[in-house]
Amino acid sequence: MDWNRRMKGYGLAGEGIHIDWPALMRFKRTFTEPVPEHQEQAYAKAGIAVFHGRAHFVDHTSLRVEGETLAGRHVAIAAGAKHRRLGIPGEEYLTSSTQFLDLERLPPRIAFVGGGYISFEFAHLAARAGARAQILHRGARPLAGFDPDLVDQLLAATRAVGVDVRLEAPVAAIEKEGDHFVVVTSTDGGRERYEADLVIHGAGRVPEIDDLDLDRAGIERNKNGVVVNEYLQSVSNPAVYAAGDAAAVGRPLTPVAGLEGSVVARNLLEGNKHKADHGATPTVVFTIPPLAAVGMQESEAKDAGLSVHVNSGDTSGWNTSRRVRAEHSGYKVLVEETSQRILGAHLLGVHAEEVINLFAMAIRFDIPAPELKTMLYAYPTSSSDVKYMV
Ligand SMILES: Cc1cc2nc3c(=O)[nH]c(=O)nc-3n(C[C@H](O)[C@H](O)[C@H](O)COP(=O)(O)OP(=O)(O)OC[C@H]3O[C@@H](n4cnc5c(N)ncnc54)[C@H](O)[C@@H]3O)c2cc1C
Repeated sequence: MDWNRRMKGYGLAGEGIHIDWPALMRFKRTFTEPVPEHQEQAYAKAGIAVFHGRAHFVDHTSLRVEGETLAGRHVAIAAGAKHRRLGIPGEEYLTSSTQFLDLERLPPRIAFVGGGYISFEFAHLAARAGARAQILHRGARPLAGFDPDLVDQLLAATRAVGVDVRLEAPVAAIEKEGDHFVVVTSTDGGRERYEADLVIHGAGRVPEIDDLDLDRAGIERNKNGVVVNEYLQSVSNPAVYAAGDAAAVGRPLTPVAGLEGSVVARNLLEGNKHKADHGATPTVVFTIPPLAAVGMQESEAKDAGLSVHVNSGDTSGWNTSRRVRAEHSGYKVLVEETSQRILGAHLLGVHAEEVINLFAMAIRFDIPAPELKTMLYAYPTSSSDVKYMV
């Protein structure tokens, strides 16, 4: 839809593309709903018994699930993450990201608490679907972990689609007033009130391990999850392993969870032989344009004392952007001066979510910048811009 709008008058004509939210949700469910069923069939085929219910430890190697006690030589924890508790009055009025993606219809005014990737992705979607989307972020800079210069460009793109982003607007309370809510932000400068029909929690996620009764099993944890060694084994209870968002290592992302799950499985079967390699984990904010990153940020590379050559620029004038009228795009690629290794890559723009994988591959397999420059890329693809970025 965004593409259609951008190209209108530049080769496309006609009215009327819009988001049909109920149809979109129906389509989405064709991807999400069969998953547990497929999964259970796969488990049954592999000889894995499935128990439904919340599990919690009773001792070092036993769990209770819905009245049944399960004892094993080992236990693997893969309990994922949940929304962080904010400890503010009216917290119970927050809608979770899962609930947002299950809404039968989209209300006219939606406020997002927190300026992380979930808020940005949902706000871009909601704004294009016709809602008034508002992001309230406590700090001066949203999207922590992404390159600040590209975040500034994405902020401009976000505001250009009509999302109202308020920075330095920490949410202090949520009040219910009749059939809508009021989100109250509080700063030294005073309190502001924002009316909304729906308030979405986008203020961070934490490991979902609070109700596992880890203490009974002697399992050490910290704020990032179960504390594990390089083999993803609990440092305090060797019978226990952890993977995914519940483990205190690695980023909370699907491919990381998959990799760690496989490492845990292999270590359980073969003894501690496998380590999870978290290097070069690409990560994407699925906005339009998408923002993607892999490896080090500029500040991290400089703090580490590395001699870095920073290649960066605005790419809105490049053909890749111009031919689809993408007005907000840019890149920053960090190359170590001595070795010519790629240390980090940050992309905003058309197909950034795909091109970032090339940089991830270069970092992981040590492909130096000159080789990326001489590679032959299919033209005219977004990937063919890589040679101008290194
Ligand atoms: C809105 C949103 C968008 C995201 N987008 C992306 C994206 O674009 N790309 C990406 O890579 N990642 C994304 N993520 C992150 C990704 O979903 C997680 O990193 C990934 O699902 C983690 O996998 P996991 O197996 O560790 O946990 P989960 O997939 O969360 O699975 C954990 C399961 O354990 C269950 N469980 C928890 N506690 C217990 C208990 N006590 N007993 C029994 N069962 C329990 C939970 O109900 C859940 O079913 C997104 C997350 C959210 C919320």
